[in-house]
Amino acid sequence: MAEITNTTTTPPSQRQGDDRYDPQRIEEKWHARWQADPVLFAAEPHDSKRKKYYVLEMLPYPSGALHMGHVRNYAIGDALARHMWMRGYNVLHPMGWDAFGLPAENAAIKNKVPPRQWTLQNIAHMKQQMKRLGFAYDWSREVATCLPEYYRWNQWFFLKLYEKGLAYRKNSKVNWCPECATVLANEQVVGGMCWRHEETPVEQRELEQWFVRTTQYADELLRGLDQLEGWPEKVRTMQRNWIGRSEGALVDFKIDRPSGPAGGKITVFTTRIDTIYGATSIQLAPEHPLVAELIGNDPDLQAKVEDLMREQARAKEEDQVEAIEKHGVFTGRYAINPFSQEKIPIWVANYILMGYGTGAIMSVPAHDERDYEFAQKYGLDVRIVILPRRIGEPPASGEPEQPILPYTAKDSLLINSGEFNELSNEAAIKQMSAYAEQHGFGKATVTYRLKDWGISRQRYWGTPIPMLYCQKCGIVPVPENQLPVLLPENVDITLQGGSPLARMPEFVNAKCPKCGGPARRETDTMDTFVDSSWYFYRYTNAQLNDRPLDTATVDYWFPIDQYIGGVEHAILHLIYSRFWTRFMRDLGLVHNDEPATRLFTQGMVIKNGAKMSKSKGNVVSPDDMIARFGADSTRMYALFAAPPDRDLDWQEAGVEGVHRFLGRVYRFVMRNAQARPVSGPGEIQAPTVRDVQRKLHQTIKRVTDDFQGRWHFNTCVAAVMEFVNELYGVEEEIAAGKFPDAILADVQRNLVLLLAPFAPYLARELWEVLGEKDELLRHPWPAYDPALAKEDEIEYAVQVNGKLRGRLTVPADSPEDVVRERALADERVKAAIEGKQIVKAIVVPGKLVNVVVK
Ligand SMILES: [Zn+2]
Ligand SMILES: [Zn+2]
Repeated sequence: MAEITNTTTTPPSQRQGDDRYDPQRIEEKWHARWQADPVLFAAEPHDSKRKKYYVLEMLPYPSGALHMGHVRNYAIGDALARHMWMRGYNVLHPMGWDAFGLPAENAAIKNKVPPRQWTLQNIAHMKQQMKRLGFAYDWSREVATCLPEYYRWNQWFFLKLYEKGLAYRKNSKVNWCPECATVLANEQVVGGMCWRHEETPVEQRELEQWFVRTTQYADELLRGLDQLEGWPEKVRTMQRNWIGRSEGALVDFKIDRPSGPAGGKITVFTTRIDTIYGATSIQLAPEHPLVAELIGNDPDLQAKVEDLMREQARAKEEDQVEAIEKHGVFTGRYAINPFSQEKIPIWVANYILMGYGTGAIMSVPAHDERDYEFAQKYGLDVRIVILPRRIGEPPASGEPEQPILPYTAKDSLLINSGEFNELSNEAAIKQMSAYAEQHGFGKATVTYRLKDWGISRQRYWGTPIPMLYCQKCGIVPVPENQLPVLLPENVDITLQGGSPLARMPEFVNAKCPKCGGPARRETDTMDTFVDSSWYFYRYTNAQLNDRPLDTATVDYWFPIDQYIGGVEHAILHLIYSRFWTRFMRDLGLVHNDEPATRLFTQGMVIKNGAKMSKSKGNVVSPDDMIARFGADSTRMYALFAAPPDRDLDWQEAGVEGVHRFLGRVYRFVMRNAQARPVSGPGEIQAPTVRDVQRKLHQTIKRVTDDFQGRWHFNTCVAAVMEFVNELYGVEEEIAAGKFPDAILADVQRNLVLLLAPFAPYLARELWEVLGEKDELLRHPWPAYDPALAKEDEIEYAVQVNGKLRGRLTVPADSPEDVVRERALADERVKAAIEGKQIVKAIVVPGKLVNVVVK
């Protein structure tokens, strides 16, 4: 302990000033030291003998400034990273920038700053904010997706996708936001509106696009979810629904031709082939490619189909397709049921979607809700072909029981179904699918709601798609050795008329690598979700310039141990990156199936009842909070104010409260860091010493358990606060020298260690004040001693017939019968049971004695 006095460098004249907790002074001092020490927050190489821990927060879009939602996300990850460092792990904790995207183009128009310049300025500023907040990132691994060092690998991956048949071009109807003047992914359409322009209805347009075949992995993406036990159940459910697997059958209905050559068929998808004898019409989506042929040149029919199309488009825009008022029109044509050879009418209906199944269904009104409603409206036939199964009974001899229609239960038996009568529906589905396959008009199949990923964007600020169009050779990929296809920098950006790249001859005109003739460069850029699909692999070796990643390094670090981000990414980013991992695995680049073992989705930051956002005008700037209360208080408040998975209601008074608490910690340690002479000969140990130690070890246990399980950092911080209150309660005894130096020093060391993940600046300062020489971030996390944490005595409440009659304090390890005996001997309890018969006396260990009398 003597050494502490010797190493204290603060001159006595300044001691008084130390009484005031001045976060600016402390934080700027350590900020400067941490900036000068690039190794401090750096991960060891992958041949490290330590166990690895990869903790990752989702990378931000460099919009210009951090908001409190960011701070909360990063404060959670940073606390975990620091805790894992202290537990001896080799921690990888990187940060980067999802730097391509539309806002840079909008800013370019508004402020006349080129997108690249605007983006890099924003990155510099936000990085500075992150550093000032004390987030322990390994900046040597920083990735900015807008730089050629990164996006060239997007292009390389694109070539691999193309090579493997996973990237293809197709003409399709796309969602078009007139405001963005660009194509949106389905996921970017929210309630029929653009995700960026909440007021702008999305239109449909026809364009040729590049697609990535995510559906090739649909089944694996679905099955993989079962293994992801470290992911929130709600995220797994959202992904399951998004992938939307349904088992069924494809069945071809021949189109009946009154005259002319035979041929032509409508393929329907059905999950209930067992009800096919009950099909009384075919229903086509208005966009179905056969509709035009079927209605021919009848202007009346054409107008009606256009109405249906418009109604459906409007319902889609309003996200009301499920609730659409059903309309349809008879085409005048018929199809033939391949099972019954029956001729049934072909209709076009507004509730049938081209995007689900084949865009054509067989309508079975007796056994489907929607079909029933439609048939009632238009007077179509309703035919019962399944009946409730009579379990354990022989087939009924009399009148069959009439089900209430529509009767949709699966537990049923077939009737009116030719040779399939009397089969159970499970058996019928199998046998009828097989029958269709044998006879060449159908087969069992599985469909998915998941669609291929449209990645073309008619925008400037993104990764150029490395493809060429040659008049002679057609589509030609840019050879790998010509990557990157650089994004030109001096570009005139307007939001109108498609991609600015298309207006640049020096970009568009190229030489065909196959024939040497003139070729046109692809001017679409990639969806920015491509950038974020694999960025976390790049962190493991961000400087590699001949490969996107190094497999051995990735094998060491992956999967990510803990991924942290907003639940708004539950579908897009987290499905695309799961797809990308499998694609890279099948290229032999990585060996993991999933990118992250555990996922945590933090709640939002709310102020005045709304999510903090620029448009709501309720944004709190971290800079302002840091200036007033310090970074430690700001980030600790973000952890303290609510459980991390719930929404946090921002209260400035709360930040101030945390600041006051940290001031209490600071002053306590400043007063008690140094050994003081014991008042008398020998040490007289105050009885409260044991209480303080107990509380300390109970607190260590709580905080440690929370890091390993529940993540209720709010209650962790509250527990540390309680502990500090306890310390303030014994300060007189400490001042009187009744606390042994060794214990007092130990208590303070542990207090600082407990604070280190939450308030890193103050903890580091106090670590130095305590005379500790080693680096706090690498100091072992305190171990909790169960013997010290154990309560000596426990208080029991004693109830008689449910009424509280007394309290009882007994040694913590008292056996039940002793507790019972003591309870019954209590004077007040004795009075309450006098003259009555004791029915039972139950001891609830550690809590309660319940006496029942009559
Ligand atoms: Zn838009
Ligand atoms: Zn050519």
